[in-house]
Amino acid sequence: MAYDYDLFVIGAGSGGVRAARLAAMTGARVAVAEADRVGGTCVIRGCVPKKFMVYASEFSHGFEDARAFGWNVPAATFDWVKFLARKDDEIARLSGIYTTNLNKAGALLMHGFAAFTGPHTLKVSGPDGSKEITADKILIATGGHVHRPDIDGIEHAITSDEAFHLRTLPKSILIAGGGYIAVEFAGIFAGLGVETTLAYRGDNILRGFDDDVRTHLAGEMEKRGIRIILGAAHAKIEKTDKGLVSHFGDSHPPCPTETVMFATGRRASSGGLNLKAAGVKENPDGTVCVDKFSQTNAPHIWAIGDVTGRLNLTPVAIREAVAFADTVFHDKPTAFDHALVPTAVFSQPPVGTVGVSEATARHLYGKVDIYRAKFRPMKVTFTGGRDQTLMKLVVEEKTQKLVGVHIVGPDAPEMIQLAAVAVKMGCTKAQWDDTCALHPTAAEELVTMREKYVPNEVAGRN
Ligand code: NDP
Repeated sequence: MAYDYDLFVIGAGSGGVRAARLAAMTGARVAVAEADRVGGTCVIRGCVPKKFMVYASEFSHGFEDARAFGWNVPAATFDWVKFLARKDDEIARLSGIYTTNLNKAGALLMHGFAAFTGPHTLKVSGPDGSKEITADKILIATGGHVHRPDIDGIEHAITSDEAFHLRTLPKSILIAGGGYIAVEFAGIFAGLGVETTLAYRGDNILRGFDDDVRTHLAGEMEKRGIRIILGAAHAKIEKTDKGLVSHFGDSHPPCPTETVMFATGRRASSGGLNLKAAGVKENPDGTVCVDKFSQTNAPHIWAIGDVTGRLNLTPVAIREAVAFADTVFHDKPTAFDHALVPTAVFSQPPVGTVGVSEATARHLYGKVDIYRAKFRPMKVTFTGGRDQTLMKLVVEEKTQKLVGVHIVGPDAPEMIQLAAVAVKMGCTKAQWDDTCALHPTAAEELVTMREKYVPNEVAGRN
């Protein structure tokens, strides 16, 4: 059978666009369907606009620092509307680059929502009506979307989707959740002068991260005026004349704020794709089942990125796209290695981490050596501030390999990108230490930690 396309990609986010371009560059006939703007979560309503908001909010601390360094900074004011317009221009520019790159590679962009009608057939419904297409191979790269838990009054809460477009900044906000998005937006709003409360149902923020990182970050966020309420699960959100009130059952008193934002996780965007028509299997949480080559149970259909729920990070989706193109269009079977992927939380201060936490390392390897430094960076000592940086190395005792590097402090994401090179190469602590320090930096602390750290509670266990 002659198909309309050699490859049909559903979703023009970071993963879908990369795969479509790489496939089209081999001469394959490629089309991509996108129901929204080109760029996906990362560019349109995720990493990119979030980072602009982090930059905007960090200036408030920057002005204080500048005064301490001798600058006469008059009382600074922030123009949210002006910032939003500039941010939206930049997002439109980036989305345009994605579209241009698709065109340049020779891939056709179709505006519309694609759903399977059979194993090789899809219906694309867009502003100009719907169209049936056929494709030899199909790639699902539809990403994820915000999830709102089913509680009373949830319709009054915003999510990160709306936080990027608020008409005015609220005077106060309560953010529910303790993951990436919750801590990042808590820092953003607090930095922009919004009275900020973070309410998390668990015993500490950032579950899954190293415990020292979690405790240290929570402390630093509190120093910046963010109120953190732990063990607080929403029972309901009440709307009153004065704003919203978050109720937590008997565990905490009600908390009134102007705005409530839910950052309680995302779900795979697989609903509506009619995967059944193509016989593609899903997991119970809606993620698409794939093997290490991103191939589904239907041999001509693949899935990459957040819709597979493996590791929901933009660079991972891109690497899965490259591996897909190598496997399918270059006859070079490639499986992306999901181990030792560095990650950053753009909280204030930010977190950078690669490898495993101390607790996971003890579980995996038994005995581990821990190196830890906590200090005020020189800029902070000059301004008389209280912010502290945390650096921690986790080393497997037997092999002396670095299995985890964790940093909380200014530029942590930049540092961890390079630390990840060494960790991924299987660097030992001795090799790490062999690298001469670079002075004066905060990063030099990383290669000058000689004394093992034995906290009281683990002394005798290690
Ligand atoms: P996360 O999975 O990181 O965190 C979700 C948070 O919500 C957790 O604290 C979770 O608690 C809590 N939660 C889940 N369900 C409920 C519920 N029903 N009621 C109350 N609390 C609940 O999700 P995010 O939304 O923060 O981010 C989504 C994903 O996007 C991340 O996993 C990450 O992969 C990606 N991302 C990456 C960023 C980066 O690289 N810097 C930035 C932003 C997002 P508990 O821990 O108890 O389960």
